[in-house]
Amino acid sequence: MSSLRGRLVCTVIALAALGMVIVDAASIVALQVYFRDRADTWLTDTKTRLAQAIGHTSVVVTRNDVSVLLQPGYVVTLFDPQGRVLVQTPVVDSLGNPAAPPTLPAVVGKDFAATPTTLPSAGGPQYRTLMFNLGTDVRYAQPNGPPVAIGSALLAESLDPTDDALSKLMVFELLATLVALAGIGLLSFVVLKVGLQPLRDMARTARRIAAGEVHQRIDAPNEGAEVGQVVVALNEAFDARQQSEERLRRFVADASHELRTPLTTIRGWAEMHQHGLAGEELTALSLSRIQQESARMQELVGDLLLLAQLDQQHEPVSERVDLGRLAADAVADARVTAPQREIRTLVRGRTVVCGDENRLREVLQNLISNALVHTPSGTEIDVRVTGDHARVELVVADNGPGMDEATAGRVFERFFRADQARSPGTGGTGLGLSIVRSIVAAHGGAVDLVTRPGEGSVFTVRLSSGSWETAVSRTGLAGDNEGEGRVQ
Ligand code: ADP
Repeated sequence: MSSLRGRLVCTVIALAALGMVIVDAASIVALQVYFRDRADTWLTDTKTRLAQAIGHTSVVVTRNDVSVLLQPGYVVTLFDPQGRVLVQTPVVDSLGNPAAPPTLPAVVGKDFAATPTTLPSAGGPQYRTLMFNLGTDVRYAQPNGPPVAIGSALLAESLDPTDDALSKLMVFELLATLVALAGIGLLSFVVLKVGLQPLRDMARTARRIAAGEVHQRIDAPNEGAEVGQVVVALNEAFDARQQSEERLRRFVADASHELRTPLTTIRGWAEMHQHGLAGEELTALSLSRIQQESARMQELVGDLLLLAQLDQQHEPVSERVDLGRLAADAVADARVTAPQREIRTLVRGRTVVCGDENRLREVLQNLISNALVHTPSGTEIDVRVTGDHARVELVVADNGPGMDEATAGRVFERFFRADQARSPGTGGTGLGLSIVRSIVAAHGGAVDLVTRPGEGSVFTVRLSSGSWETAVSRTGLAGDNEGEGRVQ
């Protein structure tokens, strides 16, 4: 049977059958031992009583003396001193019908059945037997002759009633076992059917989700039970999968939308050329626009690629990076591209972190270029890197227009750009800050923004010094700017 329920029912029945067979066998063996012990006790007691009754007096026993004393199922056989049968009492079963006597050898030895022994009979019951010596003073009165010496006597008790009881018990136990097993099988089938229902629900729901009904979820009646926990975990997995698919769909839609604008522009200018509509002046303009738009597309594609890599890469490169040095480089670059802007830097304390230098440069470039691009000229920019044994903090602050709460809450979203009218022509992709957040998160850090309209913006990146802290403090590697904050 291949179904889980079938296998479980079979296992339950097999285990129950094993247990019952063991109990049945044990009870039959115990009863058998009990009956045997009882027969042996009768045999030894009778032997003792006879020995006591006879004593050392001279006794002559007749066939009648013995047989009248015996109950049905018991047999006494007397042997002469040579071990040949002298006489045997008539054998009848418990109902008084004649029965076969125990099968005896023609001549019995002295040690024959010295302890209780089971003997068969010719087609009749089995007998428990005990033979013992009667001494020389007991003789047997032959019906047609003089009394003869008796060598020994064999007591035999038929095991027919006990065997009968045992076989009846066996039949009863067999029937009871079969009925009990059928009941257990039926009950476990029903219990498992109910208990495994959630698993069938799970399979059905999973199939429906796979078929496109992505909002379907499995009902979890009892969340504490094992199956309930699986249901909850699966529902969470379905939720996560759905959210990630929706994010991906939105991302692809946004990316296509962003790429469509420059492509349409390039195509428009190219078609104008193709139809020979552009004069000399327009040709120059069209080439410049085509160049601008393809540069924009290149930037966008580069950003998308970087984001995709960041989404994939779980462990960033781990190298020793001095954030203070990177900040100084980034500010130097910014001063070249925007010589008219005032950019101040401050590096203080231990500024070494563990991470990917190129990615961290990207963080600095994005934050500084945002401060340059999204603030009017004349706005002052501060870049500060400070650190201690535990963490390193990078702050890029400006005293520009700042942002309202709604805008500030969305700047880290992919493709989000605040009101274009406020910062016209900036041409950003709207991916800069989401790249910053992804890189910082991949380094185990966090980035936040404090801003208010008219009060500038302060972006703060917090990274932990990590394992580099120990190495840095031991060897005094570069990046330890303790006590000499450099302001430029
Ligand atoms: P991009 O700069 O390409 O537009 P970003 O993700 O870097 O995209 O920034 C998202 C938006 O956040 C920008 O469009 C801008 O409106 C706003 N922003 C970012 N930095 C600043 C800043 N220093 N001052 C004011 N607005 C900012």
